[in-house]
Amino acid sequence: MVCLDSILHQVTRPARYTGNEWNSVVKDWVKTRIKVALIYPDLYEIGMSTMAVPILYELLNARDDILAERVYAPWPDMEAQMRANDVPLFSLESRHPLKDFDIVGFSLGYELTYTNVLNMLDLAQIPVFASERDDSHPLIIAGGCCVLNPEPMADFIDLFVMGEGEEVLLELAESFRTWKGEGARKEELLHQLATIPGIYVPSLYQVEYQADGLVKSITPTVSQASDCIQRRIMTELPRPVTRPVVPYIEVVHDRGAIEIQRGCSRGCRFCQAGMIYRPVRERTQSEVLQSVEELIANCGYNEVSLVSLSTGDYPDIEELVANLFQRHPSLILSLPSLRIDGFSVGLLDLLASHKRTGLTFAPEAGSERLRRVINKNITEDELLRVAAAVFDRGWTNLKLYFMLGLPTETDDDVEGIIRLVDEVCSLGRKAKGRRPQLRISLSNYVPKSHTPFQWMAQVSEAEITAKHEILIQGIRRRGIKLSWQDSKVSLLEAILSRGDRRLGKVIYRAWQLGSTFDAWDEYFDYTRWLNAFAEAGLEPGFYAHRERSLDELLPWSHIDVGVSSDFLKREYQRAVEGKGTPDCRLESCNACGLEKKHPVCQQRHSLH
Ligand code: SF4
Repeated sequence: MVCLDSILHQVTRPARYTGNEWNSVVKDWVKTRIKVALIYPDLYEIGMSTMAVPILYELLNARDDILAERVYAPWPDMEAQMRANDVPLFSLESRHPLKDFDIVGFSLGYELTYTNVLNMLDLAQIPVFASERDDSHPLIIAGGCCVLNPEPMADFIDLFVMGEGEEVLLELAESFRTWKGEGARKEELLHQLATIPGIYVPSLYQVEYQADGLVKSITPTVSQASDCIQRRIMTELPRPVTRPVVPYIEVVHDRGAIEIQRGCSRGCRFCQAGMIYRPVRERTQSEVLQSVEELIANCGYNEVSLVSLSTGDYPDIEELVANLFQRHPSLILSLPSLRIDGFSVGLLDLLASHKRTGLTFAPEAGSERLRRVINKNITEDELLRVAAAVFDRGWTNLKLYFMLGLPTETDDDVEGIIRLVDEVCSLGRKAKGRRPQLRISLSNYVPKSHTPFQWMAQVSEAEITAKHEILIQGIRRRGIKLSWQDSKVSLLEAILSRGDRRLGKVIYRAWQLGSTFDAWDEYFDYTRWLNAFAEAGLEPGFYAHRERSLDELLPWSHIDVGVSSDFLKREYQRAVEGKGTPDCRLESCNACGLEKKHPVCQQRHSLH
């Protein structure tokens, strides 16, 4: 067990590293057979605000023979102290070094945390390359949305869990227990684990490239590895987390969270989550009510977030919110991901009658034409109607979220954002003489794998800068706060999210040159990445700015997320033609590929 007394007083916010928080689970280290470390590779305050680690933490700790403990990335001041004092990376619960665990699992939700993965392995005194680890090292696994293109991290991870990890992890633990009892080699374990649906062992596949740099083939090298790895999808949602660890210091989302539904059927073409978490599965209202009850009792929260990709689409959301307020009159409810279409004035009235949180809407694009291209079919009238209703009910703060660099975007679409913001602003001024406080948030579009735009090029940095200029000139005025994202950050995200296995060399070199916490402005340094690319003989533009042909073998083509390539191509074509595709929950099934694979879809498909 690691002793921290000599270093904790020398670092900022030491409570990030002390553990022992309310609801944390400390099991008997010696008596528990399988020890799992669950890692979110970013700062404690970020990691404690995400959903994946708490779900797996509760699930694994419910088993008598498994213990699960948390690990987050130490901030650079702590890292410096740990290295200077030879303190290896340790878990929060028992403070055991990471290298003493059986399984170390990373949750990868953002590509710009990749160098932190390498840094954490190194800080744990575990070799970063899978090929350099032996039977004495823990099994290093990873899951999360990023791993649906696992190739850039293939050199560092022993196996990836594709899709919903709740069932897979228990199956993996079962095989691990048997293997541990037999004392066999790790190679045999990996062969065995490769047979579990949803598990991808990258070292069991050979990737070949053509002379022009495109992927030529991805071939399993042993019989246990299948040609195609299918994402695991649970038929029913697991029990919600109602006893999460409550941090002692303020974190990004300082509130309870209940996942009310998983998946989204709206079909926005830019949205990877909307494609890879299909189909939609809802919790019953009574289960949500019961879970919120337990969450408040177990954690003492007075604010709860109803989490979903599209919370307003939850059936009878108004009734649910009314019931929650009736049972907990002082509850602050946060409803993230509200859509403008489908947003009801009744829901707004309910929210207005209690303590309010800020409202955020995402029109995404400045014109109806471009919104049809991305299949976010919101009309300007709908947007203005909702904005007027929001201001009329006393809200003065409103956040609008737009993306720049969407496929087919023109300067007129960008100027459409200015026109829209002007109209929303004047609606706010009209509402009982209040001065509206608008916050306009701009992000740069990053084409993602497994979406209809996976073949498209990301626009160049120069084009993004020109778009920023148009908006800075047109929008900055009193009461309107404009924020935008560094184009180099989104460029790196675009490279890593659609990269191939050769990028492992670049990630490794960028980390060696000092890259960690790339998602943080104060630590992001694109020059290091350019140097790493140059040394690896690779070209960033090949990954970010290249339009792919529809028949190219993509680096993630051996990963089947459920949505078929034919569906993505159809959607790509409809985008080019500016045609929308209706929501499959409201109209007919669009046969996206899941219609034969999942009971929810089989039912919906047969209805039409
Ligand atoms: S198979 Fe049909 S119902 Fe299921 S997610 Fe796809 S389009 Fe929707």
